[in-house]
Amino acid sequence: MTVPNIKLNDGNTIPQLGFGVFKVDPEKTAELVAEALRVGYRHIDTAAIYGNEEGVGQAIAESGIPREELFITTKLWNDRQTDAAAALDESLRKLGLDYVDLYLIHWPTPEKDTFVEAWKQLIELKKAGKVKSIGVANFELGHIEELELNTEETPAVNQVELHPYLQRWRELDGIRAHGIKIESWGPLGQGKTDIMEQPEVTGPAEAHGVTPAQVLIRWQLQNGVIVFPKSAHKERIAENFDVFGFELTEDEMAGITSLDRGEDGRGGPHPNDFN
Ligand code: NAD
Repeated sequence: MTVPNIKLNDGNTIPQLGFGVFKVDPEKTAELVAEALRVGYRHIDTAAIYGNEEGVGQAIAESGIPREELFITTKLWNDRQTDAAAALDESLRKLGLDYVDLYLIHWPTPEKDTFVEAWKQLIELKKAGKVKSIGVANFELGHIEELELNTEETPAVNQVELHPYLQRWRELDGIRAHGIKIESWGPLGQGKTDIMEQPEVTGPAEAHGVTPAQVLIRWQLQNGVIVFPKSAHKERIAENFDVFGFELTEDEMAGITSLDRGEDGRGGPHPNDFN
């Protein structure tokens, strides 16, 4: 199985499919990430706030996989936006790495009004070689334009809540027009919705002999989005990686796209209101 690589605006590449570890128990993280690496994932998405960077680091160290074959993302938490260099050093120590492939500002937290300052620090951390690529998460187009007005650097990615119930293609295409790749979080609805029971999802699953989760991951991939579903179960970790043996038809893609509920479909906070 070959995971496509996506080229970022800084020339680096990112595997389009990865393994996310939000809410993965720190005690079980090393074992589950080791399983993901065994199955073939090479892209891991963690964050300082997840409290499991050490487990990710342990799995990396024990895997024996050459560092350059891995793509590791972590994120700067909201209370460290004015202190990014020290925050990244802490993450690197926990991960046991001397650089990460991608470092993201986790939320804009607009009321704090410090995300431009944080972005300037990330630019310096990239120059220092401690991160290969820098980006943002949960940024609205307006926040990104503020970064572009105040610095010379455009984020490589924006990681946002994205699944059939919350799509926002107009906003996302506006962000893509800046050369920014979209990463999806919550691609399976975080296990909190009935998305996997919708006929527009179960129908294609039956037709292709795959599971609803695989259909949802495929919908993201075919939309050109970078995606890293999470699971704490080994068989599902393997299942979520096994998505390159079928392709959704145009009609199947359109059926899933028709499930959009706009803002009513949002599961997490709106980025403008999360401070
Ligand atoms: P997700 O949409 O990946 O859902 C995970 C849940 O889906 C699991 O807990 C389980 O209930 C279910 N599931 C997984 N595989 C399944 C399968 N094969 N069959 C049936 N059910 C299955 O949710 P997520 O973990 O929140 O999002 C993915 C990743 O995105 C996270 O792990 C994290 O890395 C990232 N993330 C980032 C932010 C952010 O603010 N930047 C927020 C949330 C998540």
